[in-house]
Amino acid sequence: MSEISCIFCKIVAGEIPSTRVFEDDMCIAFNDLSPQAPTHLLIVPREHFDSLDKAHTEHKATLGHLLLTAANIARGTGFADDGYRVVINTNADGGQTVFHLHVHLLAGRPFVFPPG
Ligand code: AMP
Ligand code: ZN
Repeated sequence: MSEISCIFCKIVAGEIPSTRVFEDDMCIAFNDLSPQAPTHLLIVPREHFDSLDKAHTEHKATLGHLLLTAANIARGTGFADDGYRVVINTNADGGQTVFHLHVHLLAGRPFVFPPG
C-alpha cells in the first residue's frame, strides 16, 4: 500500500525520476540524490512502511531481502572486498528524514566509527 505524499512511494511508482541500479519484486535500488560517498545507493522496499521502528514480524522477509540485496549489489559491483557501509537511520535522533524505510549502501571510501 503506497502513501500518497511519500517521496519514495512516488519513486517506486516511477512518478519521480531516479537512477535505478537494481529492482526486483520486493525492492528497488537507486542513487542517492545527495551522495555521501563515491557510491551511495538507497535500497527501498516497494511496500511502504515508515521506519525500522515500525517493523514487525510481518516485515521479516522484506528486511532480510533488503540486506541481502545490499550484499549482492556490493559483490556484483566489486566493492565488497574493500568494504562498504550499510545504514538504516531511524527516527529523529537517528537522522531519518524520509519516512519510508530504506537502507543506505555507501562505498568507495573508508568510513569512521562511530559515525557522529
Ligand atoms: P534518511 O536521512 O536516512 O531518511 O535518508 C534520506 C535520503 O534520501 C537522503 O540521503 C537524501 O539525499 C535522499 N533523497 C531524498 N530525496 C531523494 C530523491 N528524490 N532521489 C534520491 N534520493 C533522495
Ligand atoms: Zn512510501
